[in-house]
Amino acid sequence: MSSSPAPAAALDGGAGTASASLFERAATVIPGGVNSPVRAFGSVGGTPVFMASAQGPYLYDVEGREYVDLICSWGPMILGHRHPAVLDAVRAALAAGTSFGTATEGEIALAEEIVDRVAPVEKVRLVTSGTEATMSAIRLARGFTGRSKIVKFAGCYHGHVDALLAAAGSGLATFALPDTPGVTGAQAADTLVLPYNDLSAVERVFAERGQEIACVITEAAPGNMGAVPPLPGFNAGLKDLCRRHGALFISDEVMTGFRAGRAGWYDRDGVAADLFTYGKVMGGGFPAAAFGGRADVMAHLAPAGPVYQAGTLAGNPVATAAGLATLRHCTDAVYERLDTVSATIGTEVSAALSTEGVAHTLQYSGTMFSVFFSHRPVHDYDDVRASEAFRYRAFFHEMLRQGVYLPPSPFEAWFVSASHDDRAVDRIVTALPQAAKAAAAAEPPAA
Ligand code: PLP
Repeated sequence: MSSSPAPAAALDGGAGTASASLFERAATVIPGGVNSPVRAFGSVGGTPVFMASAQGPYLYDVEGREYVDLICSWGPMILGHRHPAVLDAVRAALAAGTSFGTATEGEIALAEEIVDRVAPVEKVRLVTSGTEATMSAIRLARGFTGRSKIVKFAGCYHGHVDALLAAAGSGLATFALPDTPGVTGAQAADTLVLPYNDLSAVERVFAERGQEIACVITEAAPGNMGAVPPLPGFNAGLKDLCRRHGALFISDEVMTGFRAGRAGWYDRDGVAADLFTYGKVMGGGFPAAAFGGRADVMAHLAPAGPVYQAGTLAGNPVATAAGLATLRHCTDAVYERLDTVSATIGTEVSAALSTEGVAHTLQYSGTMFSVFFSHRPVHDYDDVRASEAFRYRAFFHEMLRQGVYLPPSPFEAWFVSASHDDRAVDRIVTALPQAAKAAAAAEPPAA
């Protein structure tokens, strides 16, 4: 592992020959060569970089190049890679056995930690992915209310749940899929998609179909169309409309949970959703996720109640240990560091782009952030799509060439960790002027 700045990676795609040949090999046995679409560099072009190891704020590719990591595994690595306390907890759990299919004490401890952090969460069910968390929360909302329709917002991504793959952000925005083959008309018909940050649209839909709506689900502060925070009062307005019409309000904190603050975005707006969904940070880099909320609603879940939900590896002891160790080390100092680092990087990105005269807006959803090549604030998915996303491709590749790994899509948020020290931040700052020049010089694709 080198500790000095990376030598320049190959142009356009950044991948060296080792990554290129791995990608070729991968494509013969894995659809598209990757196990999650955004990893394929589809929206920035070029060959994806294959990583071999990581330490603190750095990733190391298969040729030993070092990159400052600004995706942090899309959120989980809030303490940085290979945090000693997390590794110790994992080793101890491994030594005791990897899966029992029975109840274990660690599951209680993780649930208690979540309940302790998020005041409105009284009961928690552990699952293995954020997708499972939102899918289960929606089933529970339907079972609890006896209603079928759900409301979601364009550009919000809640995992690849059939009913939620309508106007989702993230990989779908990246690949601009018009819709998703495989999702039936009936499933899509039960989903009402509204523009984000538009409370009057939600009021209208409740006025027309309030009796049919089981729940409203929203990212607490979206990161899946880039960082597009809720306008003041938006989440509170959603909660109020749900309450008045007998629907449940689901706050999807898979990304923001335990990252935007000790509880998550809830610390920032105090809106007590009926159900919250979590993943990423609470798994400490392992497959662990959860949904939880009001005890009377959660009481409808099997085996306490009639709404079925289950999982062979739910509450897996190794994942649970990693998540618990991670959360226990997410102290106030960690959140202060995340705030400082994300503010510093954002300010420097903005300064470099301004120097080159590139119109842009820097936005934060808590400590996640992203840059939009737009001269005005971005409030919804239409604004996102109107931005000059083509500039990001050039910006991304120049940063990658200089050893900074950004999200390989203009529609994803950037993530930092508490291990991003001054050296890591300096590496980013040093790379910015050239990347800003590349963004300024970028040409829109031929029509
Ligand atoms: N909800 C949100 C807000 C997410 O960002 C994601 C994933 O990025 C999910 C749900 C789905 O989580 P997972 O990828 O663990 O299934």
